Amino acid sequence: MAKLRVLVAGVIGWCLWWGVAPPAAAAATAVPPLPGPVVRGFDPPDQPWLAGHRGVDLLGTVGADVVAAMAGRVVFSGTLAGRGVVVVSHGALHTTYLPVNPTVAVGAQVGTGQVIARLAAGHGCPGGTCLHWGLKRGDTYLDPLSLLDTGPVRLLPATSVELVGSLLADRTQALAAGGRLPGLLTRPVPGAVGSGFGMRLHPIFGEWRLHDGVDLSAGCGTPIRAAADARVTSVSRDPASGNRLELDHGQVGGQHLVTIYLHAQGFSVRAGASVRRGQAVGRVGSTGWSTGCHLHFTVKLDGSYSDPERFL
Ligand SMILES: [Zn+2]
Ligand SMILES: [Zn+2]
Repeated sequence: MAKLRVLVAGVIGWCLWWGVAPPAAAAATAVPPLPGPVVRGFDPPDQPWLAGHRGVDLLGTVGADVVAAMAGRVVFSGTLAGRGVVVVSHGALHTTYLPVNPTVAVGAQVGTGQVIARLAAGHGCPGGTCLHWGLKRGDTYLDPLSLLDTGPVRLLPATSVELVGSLLADRTQALAAGGRLPGLLTRPVPGAVGSGFGMRLHPIFGEWRLHDGVDLSAGCGTPIRAAADARVTSVSRDPASGNRLELDHGQVGGQHLVTIYLHAQGFSVRAGASVRRGQAVGRVGSTGWSTGCHLHFTVKLDGSYSDPERFL
């Protein structure tokens, strides 16, 4: 209990840190705990008692997966001053994640990129909710972005914060108005649209029906990639859909976004799993009511079918 109090004091005061640490694997590759972008950078105060920003803020949505930036051991998982916090030890380095709803327990070993929590509300930033991501070596705060290779996280200057906010507002409006948002989703297979969204003469039944998605041309066995970060809602099989996968992308622009993938040979993920944007989740097939290998790709917004081409 004493140890815990010291630890808690350390997290609250951002000053004490317990434990004798082996040398850190400073060269280890890290991943951003959320895709970002970074809307507030690292701005440590000149003196410990002054205000500053002892980490970076990554823009996300409530409920989004938060992953461990590097492999390590969970040394704190709980609530501090009303906010959920996870702290992962990587030897001499610690990374902190808040505010979150932790999904790991103290003592758990976690791998790089493993989900450790879901983003919670409470660290507001323009355009939505932010994850505050911190990095410490002993008592010293470091810039967590220094862990990353230059790639995935875009650091926006403070002047861009308003821009991000207005971009998100535009996105919300475009979704509500049925507009196009190219790039919101990654194309799950490279092929062109063979049959579009809307009413069509059904190729097997010869009657007019709503084609509730698009048929993307792809050879048998082509990897199917998740259109965005998601949790797997279900993997199932029925006579019409063949092998069917449903992914839940959470709230986007105030609407609940779901994607569905039909006719696959099979899927390599299970219900409940977290998947990253672009991750291979299965292979194209021709199961169910299908006349040849292709991917039927469906997008649902708040439960209603929407033309996937709006988002690709
Ligand atoms: Zn912050
Ligand atoms: Zn189809």
